Amino acid sequence: MANIANELWNDFVSLIFPENCISCGELLVRGEDHLCTACRYQLPIVDEAIRDSLLTNKFVYEPKISFVDAFLTFKKSGITQKLLHQLKYKGNRELGVMLGAWYGNQLIEKPGFSAFDIIVPVPLHKRKLRIRGYNQSMAIAEGLSVATQKPVDAELLVRSKFTSTQTKKQKVDRWQNVENIFAITSAESVKGKKVLLVDDVLTTGSTLSSCASALISAGAEGIGICALAVSHK
Ligand SMILES: [Zn+2]
Repeated sequence: MANIANELWNDFVSLIFPENCISCGELLVRGEDHLCTACRYQLPIVDEAIRDSLLTNKFVYEPKISFVDAFLTFKKSGITQKLLHQLKYKGNRELGVMLGAWYGNQLIEKPGFSAFDIIVPVPLHKRKLRIRGYNQSMAIAEGLSVATQKPVDAELLVRSKFTSTQTKKQKVDRWQNVENIFAITSAESVKGKKVLLVDDVLTTGSTLSSCASALISAGAEGIGICALAVSHK
């Protein structure tokens, strides 16, 4: 009975507050979420040729980075841009989780993926986090975790503003990478682990490279990189 009541309530709510597809604007029907079925089938999924080029094109040679993957290609004013806009500026956390889960269902099929132990989202600047209210990479990571059953550790990697007083205070717990942008909060949680880094967009790869080197210098056994979208040139 409770289920029927719930469904009736949901139908009632969507009658009063109809939801539209964030890509084409069409009214959504029952069972559709954020995107209509037509737009979902038009998602520009990254093809194998692009995927194979990501490791060599975006990252300097680092033997511990063994896996690089992205879900969607990014083109200006395309559907991917609309999705990213929702994540970044509209606070659409639910959409991030949903897309992460779709992506995760693909990822589990890919060779090499099963080896990873933990999922780690790229952290946001504190200031950005305050403005945005949430970390979009964390939402994607949550969706990935639902689909892949791998745990997320959102505390492991932090953005650090490097100052000498901080170094003195937390020397033992900090493994600074060369650019001093990211730090590891617990070496115990990294040592010997294969870490899957998650970001919303892969552009030059420099942010993800910085994250990877911080994790590697703290003793990570291997690094995988996956992004919801890639701007491919
Ligand atoms: Zn649509």
